[in-house]
This record gives sequence, structure tokens and C-alpha cells, in this order.
Amino acid sequence: LNHVIETDAAIVGAGPAGLFQVFQLGLLGIKAHVIDSLPHAGGQCIELYPDKPIYDIPATPVCTGRELIHQLLTQIAPFNAVFHWGQEVVSVSATADQRWQLHTQALAATGSALEPTKTFITKTLFIAGGVGSFQARQINLPGIEAYRARQVHYHYRTQDSTQNKTQWAGQQVLVLGGDETALQCAIELAQQPSAHRPAKVMLLHRRSVLQAAPQTLAHLEQLRQNQQLQFMVGQITGFEQSRQTDTATLTALHITDPQGHTHTVALNTVLAFLGLSPKLGPIAQWGLHLSRKQVVVDSEKFQTSAPGIFAVGDINTYPGKKKLIVCSFHEATLAAFAAASHLSPHAQVALQYTTTSTQLQQRLGVAHK
Ligand SMILES: Cc1cc2nc3c(=O)[nH]c(=O)nc-3n(C[C@H](O)[C@H](O)[C@H](O)COP(=O)(O)OP(=O)(O)OC[C@H]3O[C@@H](n4cnc5c(N)ncnc54)[C@H](O)[C@@H]3O)c2cc1C
Repeated sequence: LNHVIETDAAIVGAGPAGLFQVFQLGLLGIKAHVIDSLPHAGGQCIELYPDKPIYDIPATPVCTGRELIHQLLTQIAPFNAVFHWGQEVVSVSATADQRWQLHTQALAATGSALEPTKTFITKTLFIAGGVGSFQARQINLPGIEAYRARQVHYHYRTQDSTQNKTQWAGQQVLVLGGDETALQCAIELAQQPSAHRPAKVMLLHRRSVLQAAPQTLAHLEQLRQNQQLQFMVGQITGFEQSRQTDTATLTALHITDPQGHTHTVALNTVLAFLGLSPKLGPIAQWGLHLSRKQVVVDSEKFQTSAPGIFAVGDINTYPGKKKLIVCSFHEATLAAFAAASHLSPHAQVALQYTTTSTQLQQRLGVAHK
């Protein structure tokens, strides 16, 4: 069912820029809807470097990507933004009454449950799309896409729901990839209680070197030695299927090892973690003034060529632009003030301090402490 959500502010992207945008809008009393194609917050900080330290966040000498996002989510909690996960904003168009209409498309690639496509009508729009919407890299084997979502899943997350955790009980599951997420998934499946555990858990990577935290590697090695998990090195070079009535079932993969020998590996399910590549995609089609695939903004309001549409974070460009998280925080602050004026053109938007303003403290839920 396609329902329309009407709002004062919609934010495309829940990376650090989009999250801090929620905060700055919240201080000004503006509630936001946040849409991201991923099933969770964090953008690059979570997808590309969750455990790496960041040293240049003001007043935070060091924190990891994951810690930064956790802190931002805690900081914006009082403002009750509505998050729409697994939804890619595909189109933006003007309405007759100077608002903006957005359409989303649910993404199965993230492994999250498919939600119906949504339509938003918003007075102000904040594009915080970073380097683009993250898409799962596909297995490079013609024909394999026919099994997608049935037997081949991309970036499936075992922690998403308890029901999902158990759906491969008794099956032969091949996890594809060599990074932390792939290893975590294989480990979690191999460790399920016996009633829920797959009959066989295999991990396949194209190289023998795996890139994960030392404790994850040690854990994997222990499961491998206990024969709870099998690790293989090689490339997928073919597949086998069986056909009953009109649906084909994937029954095996051909895996070619580094010595050039091809093995046939029987399986029921493939969980592929081949990385996520950002795709600017739809944002480029929204009729905004672009320069080298970045959205052009002014550095007073961080407004794009369309009135009421702002762009913050890695997606925007202006003279002197630096793609740093700290800069996106400044951009989101000024964009919020500009949006408040856009929403109430005749009202004065006063600058207030969180330390002394009762109004801001009420919005933050910390008044009278
Ligand atoms: C390895 C690495 C280390 C880094 N270290 C630092 C550092 O130490 N300090 C620092 O300041 N910066 C660092 N950066 C850069 C920093 O991560 C980025 O500047 C920051 O993530 C940009 O935030 P953002 O919110 O603009 O975009 P992103 O973090 O890219 O988030 C954008 C979000 O928008 C979503 N999105 C995009 N298009 C759509 C759409 N059409 N529909 C729905 N959702 C969409 C994406 O899925 C994504 O979640 C580092 C980057 C990398 C890769």
C-alpha cells in the first residue's frame, strides 16, 4: 500500500551528516523523517570503517566509526525522528504548492524485510547522501541472479531478526567473502543451537588471507578445527540447478581453487558479502545543479539550486569544501537555520544557547534538572 507521509523536513541519508541534521532541526523545533537505503544508521562510518579510530571529531580525542554513530543516535534521541530503513529515494519533484514530493523504492539488496514503497511530501529536503546509496556488489556469474532473494542473499545480517536466524536450519550454507561481516555471519551460523544450525557452514574467499579482527580470526580457526565450519579458497566459476515444474533450484556451485582445480560444492543457500559500493544514482536525476557529481550549494544556507532543498556532508560542493565529518556538522547547523526561515519566512529565527535557553532544554528533554 502506498501511503503519503507529509512533513516539514525529510532527510535523505543517515550518515553522520544526516544524523546531525536531525539534531540541529530538532533544536529549532522541526521534526524530521530520515530515509536511508541501508537497514541501519551510520553511512560510511558503519559500512566502511566501524572499528577504525577517528581522531578529528571536536572534543572527542578518539572514537571508532561505530562509537561516533552510537553517540550521534543518543544525542538525537530526544527529537524522535522517524527512520525509514531499506528505502532508496528514487525521485524528487516539485508539487504545485512549493513543496517536494519524494518516492522511495524498497531495497532487497540489504537483506532487510521489504517494506512497501513510500511517498513523502515535504516542505524542506536535506540531501545527506554522502558518496551515494550503498549497493551490495553482486556475484559475477551470469545466470546466478535468478536465485537472488530465494537462495542467494546479499549482505544478509544475522542479527536482523530471530526468525531469520533460524531459517537455514539443516541446510548447507555457503558464506562468501573475507571480511569481518562475512566471518561474523559464518561464525554466528556455525554457533547456532543445534535445532537451528545449518547442517553445514562453509566460508569461501578468493584469497587465503582474511581481513578481520584478530579475535574473529581466532574464533573462526577454532570452529574450523572443531569441524563446525569449513573454509575454502577459490572463485565461483559455475553452478548447477535442478528444475521441478517451472522453478529452478540452485543445487551446487563450481569452485575453482588457486591451483586451477574445480570442485562441485552442493548447497542450498549462498550468503554473499562482497562489499558495498556507493552509487550516486538517483540523486543525479533530481534536476539539481551538479558539479563533478556533487550537488552545488551556497555556503550561507547550504541550499541547492532548488529552494527548500539543502545538501550537507560529502554529497555537496562549494568553494573550499572539505569532505570531513566536522565540516558536515557546521553545514547541517546553518542549513537548519535556513530551513527554519524557509518554513516561517516572516518569523525571526533567534540564536539560542543550549546552556541557557529553557526552550532548547525543553526540546532536549532536560529542562528543570
Ligand atoms: C576509511 C575511511 C576513513 C575515514 N576517516 C575519517 C576521519 O577520520 N575523519 C573524518 O572527518 N572523516 C573521515 N572519513 C570521511 C567520513 O566518513 C565522511 O566524510 C562521512 O561519512 C560523510 O558523511 P555523510 O553523512 O555526508 O555521508 P555517508 O556517511 O556516505 O552517508 C550517506 C548515507 O546516505 C545514504 N543514501 C545515499 N543516497 C541515498 C538515496 N538516494 N536514498 C536513500 N539513502 C541514500 C547512504 O546509504 C548512506 O547511508 C573517512 C572515510 C573513510 C572511507
